[in-house]
Amino acid sequence: MILVLSPNTQEESPAYQELISRLDRLSGIQYRVHRVAGAEVTLTEIYLIGTTAGLSADVVGQLPCVEKVVRVSEPYRILGRHKENDVRTWSFTYNGIRFGQDTFHVFAGLCAVDSRESVEAMMRALAEQGQVCTRMGAYKPRTNPYAFQGHGKNCLPYVFELAGKYGIKVIAMEITHESHIAEIEEALKQTGNPTGVMLQIGTRNTQNFELLKFVGRQHTFPVLIKRGFGITLDESLNAAEYLASEGNRNVIFCLRGMKTNMGDPHRNFVDFSHVPSVKRLTHMPVCIDPSHSVGTRAVSPDGILDVFHVAAQGIIAGANMVLVDFHPFPEKALVDGPQALRLNELKPFLNDCAIAREAYLKRVANMNASK
Ligand code: PEP
Ligand code: MN
Repeated sequence: MILVLSPNTQEESPAYQELISRLDRLSGIQYRVHRVAGAEVTLTEIYLIGTTAGLSADVVGQLPCVEKVVRVSEPYRILGRHKENDVRTWSFTYNGIRFGQDTFHVFAGLCAVDSRESVEAMMRALAEQGQVCTRMGAYKPRTNPYAFQGHGKNCLPYVFELAGKYGIKVIAMEITHESHIAEIEEALKQTGNPTGVMLQIGTRNTQNFELLKFVGRQHTFPVLIKRGFGITLDESLNAAEYLASEGNRNVIFCLRGMKTNMGDPHRNFVDFSHVPSVKRLTHMPVCIDPSHSVGTRAVSPDGILDVFHVAAQGIIAGANMVLVDFHPFPEKALVDGPQALRLNELKPFLNDCAIAREAYLKRVANMNASK
């Protein structure tokens, strides 16, 4: 059950205090307060968790400050689209960049940071193309325990410094342990907050519930959560809901393909047909990762790389974000070189994305015109 309070409800007000003391007395029910401060109004919602079935929505609706009660029995209580709360707008702005189901951003960058030179070459290329977002892996989960697992916190100062130098506003960066958040915060502070970070939960950690809870409790960084490679879409959406249930709903959901040899010759079975499904089931902006889906630089007879093809397929279906691997020298990359695009492919890739995005917007206009 979600209690939507009157706009601008003050925490110090006697009415709010009365509401809280009434909620404290409900047995078997816990609550979490979520406040969203907008430019003009501050909205407060209280999520009741536990055995809410016995609570009468009418009675709860009479409590002080409560404007509306939304009973949510469907899954993904907070992130899901439900008839009652469909109208709530769910875009969020982080470091000047807005993310929603109506926006579109490309995060091209290094799968793994290997050297300062690679980072600088990548960021310079992005700046030349007017890009303000990137991906940079500092903490890499690897199958082989002897493989390079990223430079970790040691590379953060130069990654953030260079991001500032080249006007990068948001860096998608996977974390594999809760301690990485403090390391990122510390490095941002040390370098004077030149950029922003979107915390990425990788496919191997989609159901690492304790990590999800920890990440969901912080409100500094938005979160990009990848679909689990071997679980159902419903299970992955529930994983995303863990983040929101702990208070952070600045969450983007990323499709990255499913692990099965049915997807051969691609590294994973591309699942971008689920872009509209995720947008229909939830309020989350949807990202696609064509690099980890395809996993190679294979080229079709039409001269277009498979990575370009599948990215366009996701974008024409309404994807809001593309996470894609590039490297100045893919043959020298320490992680995922075989799937990395080259810097001279950045401009054509961005153009191809723009073509597909325009086609998507035309498809939407076409459909609405016929209504
Ligand atoms: C990545 O984006 O670098 C990555 C490891 O992806 P995934 O978690 O989808 O394998
Ligand atoms: Mn990778």
